Amino acid sequence: MEKKIVKDILFLSQVSQPASQEDLYLAKDLQDTLLENRETCVGLAANMIGVQKRVIIFNLGLVPVVMFNPVLLSFEGPYETEEGCLSLTGERPTTRYEMITVSYRDSKWKEQTITLTGFPAQICQHELDHLEGRII
Ligand SMILES: [Zn+2]
Repeated sequence: MEKKIVKDILFLSQVSQPASQEDLYLAKDLQDTLLENRETCVGLAANMIGVQKRVIIFNLGLVPVVMFNPVLLSFEGPYETEEGCLSLTGERPTTRYEMITVSYRDSKWKEQTITLTGFPAQICQHELDHLEGRII
């Protein structure tokens, strides 16, 4: 189900808690909300729809990827860029990495490891920051 986007900075500044299999329903809510906001949004963290659990979604090619309990394993190739966020107005400068490797559980709770580069890597880093309560 599509959810309202949280813009409360105090709420968004809190660190999200580990997700469990009881949180698998969030995949659908995140997919629906991302789809509904697709003109302006390429990724979401669960706290943006009001749930402080470690779950993110972002566009990877044509299909969005949902990650439960994602962990950044490695990163290389720093660069400066500017980003916007559905929960904020305007764009802000930030440092991102060209290539990252992330481990996570998928929506079937299977362990996965993926290496991302370019734009998907950037969105993933933005959403990972949300889990730590960091907003660009
Ligand atoms: Zn954001």
